[in-house]
Amino acid sequence: MRTVKHVTCPVCGCLCDDLELTIKDEKVVKVKNGCALCKAKFLGYSKHRVLKPLVRKNGRFFEVSYEEAVSRAAEILTEANYPLLYGWSMTSCEAVSAGIELAEEIGGVIDTTSTLCHGPSTLGIQDVGISSATLGQVRHRADLIVYWGSNPLIAHPRHMERYTIFRKGRFQKEKRKLIVVDVRKTETAETADIFLQIKPNMDYEVLQALRALIRDQELDVDEVAGIPTERLEEIADTMVECRFGALFFGSGLTMTRGKNRNIDAVLSLVSDLNKLTKFIAMPMRGHFNVTGADMILTWQTGYPYAVDFSLGYPRYNPGETSAVDILLREESDAALVVASDPVASLPRKAAEHLAENPLIVVDPHMSATARMADVVLPSTFVGIESGGTAYRMDHVPLPLKKIVEPPEGILSDEEILRIILSEVKRKKAEQMENP
Ligand code: SF4
Repeated sequence: MRTVKHVTCPVCGCLCDDLELTIKDEKVVKVKNGCALCKAKFLGYSKHRVLKPLVRKNGRFFEVSYEEAVSRAAEILTEANYPLLYGWSMTSCEAVSAGIELAEEIGGVIDTTSTLCHGPSTLGIQDVGISSATLGQVRHRADLIVYWGSNPLIAHPRHMERYTIFRKGRFQKEKRKLIVVDVRKTETAETADIFLQIKPNMDYEVLQALRALIRDQELDVDEVAGIPTERLEEIADTMVECRFGALFFGSGLTMTRGKNRNIDAVLSLVSDLNKLTKFIAMPMRGHFNVTGADMILTWQTGYPYAVDFSLGYPRYNPGETSAVDILLREESDAALVVASDPVASLPRKAAEHLAENPLIVVDPHMSATARMADVVLPSTFVGIESGGTAYRMDHVPLPLKKIVEPPEGILSDEEILRIILSEVKRKKAEQMENP
C-alpha cells in the first residue's frame, strides 16, 4: 500500500492538482479530494481495456504485434491523399507535439475537439482579444462570478469549490455574488443569487443590451429575450459596481445561434466593463488538455486548431479546414483518431464518412470509434499510467504523473505516434528509392 500526493486529475479542464491516491497492488483503491467524475476515472479506468493491437482483416479484428499494427497504420497514412488526424484533447502535450510532426510529414489536416465546443471562443478571441486572469487570481480577488451557458456543478464539479463561490480568497473574504445566465434552471442556477433564464438562441441580444446599458444608453424595448429591461438594468448595475468580476462561458454560449459572434459580444462586454471596473472572461474548457492541444498547435504551426498541411505549409480556415466540414464534404480518405471518440460525438453523416475510409485509432478503450477502426493501437492512460504535461483552462501548465505501471507491453500515445512517424518516414524513403 502506498500513497501518492499532489496528483493532477486527468478528467476536466479544472485539472485539480491536489488529489491524494492510495495504491495497492498497482491499482488505485482510494481517491482523496476528487469529485465523482475523478473517482469514477481513477477507480474504474481499467474496465473495457484493449490490451493487444488489433488489425481488421476480412471484416474481423485479429490480435497482432505493435510492429504489424504500426506498419499497417503507416501504410494507410502514407497512401492517403488527404488524411485527417483528429482528437488530442485527452492526451499529453508531448503526444500532441508528435501528432503535429506526423500531420506535417503526411500532408494531412490536424484538428482537435475544440472544433465541436470552444472553436468559436478561439475565433472570438482572435476577433476581439480577451481580458483574462489565472484561476488563482479569480479565487483570491473576484467578488462577482458570472456563469453564462455553463453548468459547472455537473461538468466541472470542483470549479466553484476551488476557485469561485464556495472558496474564500486572500483578498475576498465576504460571500461572492453569483449570476447564472442559461436557457433552463440548471443545478448551478439553483445556487445563484441572480438567475437570468433567457429564451434559447438569444444570448447575443442580451449581451448587446447589457453593453448598451453599461454605456448608459437607453433601451427602447420592454424586454430582451424574455427578460424585462429593468431586470437587465439591475444586472448591468451589479456588474459595474463589483470590484473584480469573472465571467465564465460554456458551450451553451459557443454552440448556440451566433456562435463566434456571441463570443465577440461577451468579450466586448468584458472590454466595456474594464473601462469602469476590473472584469475578466474565461472559456470553461471541457476535456482536461483541450487547452494544451490548442497551445501546442499554436506554438508549432501558428494556428490553434483545424490546421491543414496539404499544401506543404500550415493553413487555417475553420469552416473549410475543420474536421466536421471536411468529413461532411467527404474529402478525407483516411483518418487517425487519438484520445477521442468522434463516432459518439460527431454529426451522423460526418461519423459515417470517418468510418467508411481507412481508420486508425490510438486509445486505451474499445470506444465506439475503435469498433469501426481498421487498426487499433492500445495506449496507456495519460495521467495514470504515463506522465506528461497538460494545460488548465486558464493556460497554466501542470504536470501529469505516472501513478501506476501500465499493463505489460502497452505504450503511451507519444511513443506510439513517434513509432508511426518513423515508420512513415521509412516507407516514404523506400518509395523514393523505388518509385
Ligand atoms: S473538477 Fe474536474 S479536474 Fe477537478 S477533480 Fe473533478 S473532474 Fe477532476
